[in-house]
Amino acid sequence: VRQSEPTPDVFAERNHAVTAMRVEIINTGTELLLGTTPNTHLPFIAQRLLRLGLRVARQTTVGDNRAEMTAAVKNALARADILLITGGLGPTADDFTREIIAEILQRKLVHDENLAQLIADRFKKRNIPMPETVLKQAKIPEGARILPNPNGTAVGLVLEHKGKLVALLPGPPRELAPMFDEFLLPILRAHCKNLRPFCRIFRTTGLPESLLEQKIQPLIQKFPQLEVGFCAKIGEVELRIVTENAKIADEAEKIVESLIGDFVFSRGDERLEEVIVRLLTEKKLTLAVAESCTGGHIANRITNISGASNVFLSGVVTYSNAEKVRLLGVSPQTIEKFGAVSEQVAREMAENLRKKSGATFALSTTGIAGPTGGTSEKPVGLVFIGLASPDGVEVRQHLFVYDRETFKFISAQTALDWLRRGLQR
Ligand code: ATP
Ligand code: MG
Repeated sequence: VRQSEPTPDVFAERNHAVTAMRVEIINTGTELLLGTTPNTHLPFIAQRLLRLGLRVARQTTVGDNRAEMTAAVKNALARADILLITGGLGPTADDFTREIIAEILQRKLVHDENLAQLIADRFKKRNIPMPETVLKQAKIPEGARILPNPNGTAVGLVLEHKGKLVALLPGPPRELAPMFDEFLLPILRAHCKNLRPFCRIFRTTGLPESLLEQKIQPLIQKFPQLEVGFCAKIGEVELRIVTENAKIADEAEKIVESLIGDFVFSRGDERLEEVIVRLLTEKKLTLAVAESCTGGHIANRITNISGASNVFLSGVVTYSNAEKVRLLGVSPQTIEKFGAVSEQVAREMAENLRKKSGATFALSTTGIAGPTGGTSEKPVGLVFIGLASPDGVEVRQHLFVYDRETFKFISAQTALDWLRRGLQR
């Protein structure tokens, strides 16, 4: 992730208001320090906080070690206004975040009978015997607010201490993320509602960050003091603008829309595939995909989204020539004459699947993922993407020279974004 930071003088000036609310994060877990588990909580939490106008001033990682954790928490508490601690809420012997916090904040750990019941019910529902140790998770520091955990037994906890906010969150990302969004964000929002600068996020695809920056020059010229940041990810560039002035934020937002609106697929957490499923659903339209080089990646992304079954009819992965003929009815002569990676084959794949499935739209992909298999006329990275719609079928040619998995992702991203633009017209 590359990040263009504002120039130091502007930053110093701005920093004052921003650090009025100092946030620190402590990520716990020996696996994070062994390098076997990448710390995904930091980027997740930091990005969510940024939207509230909050920045992480410092992040500490500690292993499952009482002395290290105690020291880290004491140090962070001395500096921070908001302290978020992840991990160590589980039932095993190496989980003791709860105890350490109770000790440092001098709160008794009390047994919560409701919580114990909820945990017991969870085990009963899954029909597995409950080990006694699990009930340790029903002990909470006195005065703590509970953040429910629909995806696990360890609830999150929020404590107020001398005007500071301390939140404890579970380690597993699939438990932490929904809990954060549903239960912690509203508390944080309320806690710092008068302090935040205005942060606007624009998630774009289709332009490298250098070109995006060029396109938004008029905005930078108009508001030289505005913080403009870019974050380039695979197949996506996120643009963020931050200001303490609400009017400037609104005006800047309009300018961004007029300059690069077409490239913006999301203004927040919504992923491209979610946008597609939502738009198809709203318009009562359907999709089918005929994939070769993307190997089912498009279908996978679409079917990750709840509600996909209402709009997604089928995904066919035809990797060999014979299967392109057998399943999609691509003509053997077309393959013979133009090759499997060709505009003509992409066209027939999309067109034929649209007819066969009855879907409103059909996308197709055929390309050379590499690293082998390229020729001088058809180099590695070449991909044809077809889009069949009620208006007819169109094929676009791209060159994405990356490793195989990135190639698949970017090809899928490009295909989905093409459809998104069609749906938003
Ligand atoms: P559990 O009930 O599973 O024990 P816990 O709250 O005690 O939950 P941990 O034991 O610290 O949490 O971690 C549980 C799982 O979550 C582990 O698989 C761990 O690798 C993963 N995990 C913990 N912290 C992070 C992190 N910062 N980033 C990504 N994964 C993490
Ligand atoms: Mg654990």
